[in-house]
Amino acid sequence: MVSAEASPARTVVMKFGGTSVADAERIKRAARRIVEAREEGSRVVAVLSARGKTTDELTAMAHEVSPRPDPREMDMLLSTGERISCALAAMVINDLGHEAISLTGSQAGIVTDTSHTRARILDVRATRIEAALDEGQIVLVAGFQGVSTARDVTTLGRGGSDTTAVALAAALSADVCEIYTDVAGVFSADPRVVADARKLVQVSFEEMLEMAASGAKVLQLRAVEYARNHGVRVHCRSSFEDGPGTFVRSEEETMERPLVTAVTHSREEARVTLTRLPDRPGVAGRVMTVLADAGVNVDMIIQNEPESPGAAADMSFTVPRSDLLSACDALEPLRAELGIGELATDSAMGKVSLVGAGMRSHPGVAAKAFSVLGEAGVNIQMIATSPIKISCVVREEEVDVAVRELHAAFELGAGAVQPEDPRGVHRPVVSSP
Ligand code: ADP
Ligand code: ASP
Ligand code: MG
Repeated sequence: MVSAEASPARTVVMKFGGTSVADAERIKRAARRIVEAREEGSRVVAVLSARGKTTDELTAMAHEVSPRPDPREMDMLLSTGERISCALAAMVINDLGHEAISLTGSQAGIVTDTSHTRARILDVRATRIEAALDEGQIVLVAGFQGVSTARDVTTLGRGGSDTTAVALAAALSADVCEIYTDVAGVFSADPRVVADARKLVQVSFEEMLEMAASGAKVLQLRAVEYARNHGVRVHCRSSFEDGPGTFVRSEEETMERPLVTAVTHSREEARVTLTRLPDRPGVAGRVMTVLADAGVNVDMIIQNEPESPGAAADMSFTVPRSDLLSACDALEPLRAELGIGELATDSAMGKVSLVGAGMRSHPGVAAKAFSVLGEAGVNIQMIATSPIKISCVVREEEVDVAVRELHAAFELGAGAVQPEDPRGVHRPVVSSP
């Protein structure tokens, strides 16, 4: 077996998503790719997701036995999916003549806070991984999980294996964190919704943060935050074909300021409306505090002005659909306490967003986006903006048409003619998918 190399070897972290390890053939394919990297001389850590729809199936299993599964026990259950993948891949790699060791998140030294089902990584104590790499072993780490400061198993939220991979890459000072997935990289829109979406050669951390926050599942939001904060080089690429994917880089490195880089969407929104809120200071603060205490992430908020001083106001906001039950549980006692009118909900909401670093200084983007949606007959229910993003809440069934119309109108498609930009704003560097 190879021992520690004479010259400093490259360290790579390779993460394979659920589709990439869905069956025996795919596990073998991923294992071969891992072995190839090792044979090229790299120190290799591979982070694996649960196979195929395992996490969904485990979640459904929990709901079969309990309407509100205990979060600690949920984590015990969910963490098993990624362990299965790692043990199987280690078996394949051993059969291929290399030494592999599979580790749970806890064994890998991933320490988190105690927020079950959505824990945050606090520390990575990678000594065991380092030792195994020094021995020439390939290390397989179960993604999406860690051990809390209270020594319980935790999981990192949906898509959390991306964050495991980035955190390990940071702790090991890896040369690159490769995210192998079922599409060829980060695209100008979800290629499953927009047939001519374009693969981006590179995307800035700032844009990728906005994209991840607004529904582009390809990288988990926390993974992008972690990579930006720790300077991790992320390469998002296909596990089924060779060739480069998309590099996520700092804005200085990308040197591109596209007006609009991508259209993203989410179908998993819910709207909550509170009517007849008492018009006095502190009420909005109380509403948001009970939601925050219940761990509910509030996205867009609208509160209308009361018609006259002292009259009642209405407030609407969106939450992830999966948090709707918790939001209602948290709000109901407050509604009774403060004498708020009604608590109404609509769980069939979606969101479509435009993201682009060049938007900062070009207000025309919003005008064009709203007109395009209007002409397509899509009713905008709420709007939120950041310097490089415009998001609109629309009905869930209108999401697809909204995404396609915006993608076409801003000429983001692979076949679109890219006119010279009169303001000297750079166009994105792109290639065909
Ligand atoms: P994995 O299981 O490998 O982690 P995910 O399902 O979490 O994969 O993320 C990959 C999926 O993200 C793709 O199959 C694609 O449908 C979706 N996606 C959404 N928006 C984008 C985008 N802008 N670019 C690439 N993929 C996207
Ligand atoms: N298996 C988990 C999920 O489906 C984590 C991941 O795949 O990143 O969300
Ligand atoms: Mg994912």
